[in-house]
Amino acid sequence: QVSDTETITDGHRWPRQNSVCIIFLSLSMREWDIPYDELQIGDEIGAGRFGKVYRGYWHGDVAIKVLNMEYVNDEKTLEQFKMEVSTFRKTRHENLVLFMGACMKPPRLAIVTSLSKGNTLYTLIHLRKDKFNMNKTTIVAQQIAQGMGYLHAKGILHKDLKTKNIFLENGKVVITDFGLFSVTKLCHGNRKGDSLGIPPGWLCYLAPELVRSLHAHQAHNEDLPFGKASDVYAFGTVWYELLCGEWPFKGQPPEAIIWQVGKGMKQPLANLQASRDVKDILMLCWSFHAKDRPDFIRLLNILDKLPKKRLARSPSHPIHLSRSAES
Ligand code: ATP
Repeated sequence: QVSDTETITDGHRWPRQNSVCIIFLSLSMREWDIPYDELQIGDEIGAGRFGKVYRGYWHGDVAIKVLNMEYVNDEKTLEQFKMEVSTFRKTRHENLVLFMGACMKPPRLAIVTSLSKGNTLYTLIHLRKDKFNMNKTTIVAQQIAQGMGYLHAKGILHKDLKTKNIFLENGKVVITDFGLFSVTKLCHGNRKGDSLGIPPGWLCYLAPELVRSLHAHQAHNEDLPFGKASDVYAFGTVWYELLCGEWPFKGQPPEAIIWQVGKGMKQPLANLQASRDVKDILMLCWSFHAKDRPDFIRLLNILDKLPKKRLARSPSHPIHLSRSAES
């Protein structure tokens, strides 16, 4: 029995005043719903916190992220997944992975994006040990800041910016996994008993306000206080990795990192051979108070003003960028 003030959409009862919005959302979501059977699933590329990623085919090569359904077991979680997907479809920027659609019918939840053919910055920096010269570092950082500035202008927080989520394809940066942190959190399998599961290499991207709100008995659905400024903090860490080839607080146990970051201590930069301007970017992004961190527009301005080394050019050889760090 539906009352005069209610509408039923997707099996839910909604107050009539919200129904127009909800019907609209539900119709526009349908446009992005890919029937699972239409996907040709190929080899597994890798596994992350929220499930497995496969190479696949759907009107061309795609990456298919299949969610670990163990944790998506109620209506509320499913709605949250749909909401996250709805933010994804608003993005059109050359430095952001192309969202193509999603399978939204349980038990098969998956996100379909363009397939990145390059390597992640994580692979280039930490596994291949490629060296990025200053020009290359700046160009890569500018593209990350452009993609992130666009996301923030659209009101979307990344929440998980890290070198594992940044691809480099023929010199072009492609950022992935934005806005999916809550889904990741819902699907994570890192938790052991009552303790807080900390994936390796995750802590050094967390701003002090996030680190200070972590606690051992964190509830699955408890939100961390993410904001635009916490994305900027993570960008600072990516800038450090590009410059140094390693993570800040390298080799230190999680408790030591949590304690230092929570107290406002930073990775010392004495051994980093870089100009004042370059180090200032780190200090700004890693500011203890979120309000002191620059936004991506200001960062782009700062990056643009960094002195550019002139590249050796002979009449017979056009400008040549070191390809050592290119994929
Ligand atoms: P975490 O879960 O901690 O974020 P992760 O980033 O490695 O770790 P996923 O994002 O699930 O986890 O990715 C798993 C693997 O799939 C990684 O090797 C990643 O580089 C790869 N991958 C993810 N998205 C794409 C894509 N669009 N194109 C190609 N490979 C991808």
